[in-house]
Amino acid sequence: MDTENLPPTFKGRQYEVRALGLRDFAGLRREDEPLEPFELAYFAKLLVINFDEIAGLSEETREHLLGVGVNDWSGGTSSRPLPNGWRLVILNPKHGKARNNATLMEEVCHVFLGHKANRLSIVAQNKQGKTVARDYNEADEEAAYAVGAAALVPFAGLRRLLKQNRTSIEMARHFNVSRELVEYRLKVCRLWAEYRQRHPEEDAARELRRRAFAAAKEVDSRQ
Ligand SMILES: [Zn+2]
Repeated sequence: MDTENLPPTFKGRQYEVRALGLRDFAGLRREDEPLEPFELAYFAKLLVINFDEIAGLSEETREHLLGVGVNDWSGGTSSRPLPNGWRLVILNPKHGKARNNATLMEEVCHVFLGHKANRLSIVAQNKQGKTVARDYNEADEEAAYAVGAAALVPFAGLRRLLKQNRTSIEMARHFNVSRELVEYRLKVCRLWAEYRQRHPEEDAARELRRRAFAAAKEVDSRQ
């Protein structure tokens, strides 16, 4: 196997190979071409529907999902397929295209990786201590997210943009994903140290953001 275009870690390579398979399937030829997950969703028989098209939601539920609860969900797939075998996916309309792309890719990956959904969703605590519902076991959730992220931001393409001295914001715009996703990819691909070296001016800003976040969290916990 040609390992030149694969990330250095064992796990990273396993995810990358699957992600490259998906990019190939989507007809992408260049390593830095952006992926359109809506096309893959079609092959995965996932029908993405508009939040406004969901019938039967009470006004209260709708308000909760788009109001105070808007950060608690990113999207999901219906567990029961339609009579024609397709399944419905709903994406959080307040999250914007970049975050929706990552959410949809995760759902697409669950299908392509052959993950079996649990009949009852698993309820667990996430890293922030929030209760979250999962439709798959933890290992499958991790794999679907990681492969989806690698398909959207492949190692070789990411490295090419890095060598061109692009910032993570520019890379995010290029791949139609969030800056957070690009930075996550830089880290798991072990390109983060080089990125920081190339963009020393961002270190101070990052430190400020980190402190502001820690301070906000403290206020939050005192309430
Ligand atoms: Zn998932």
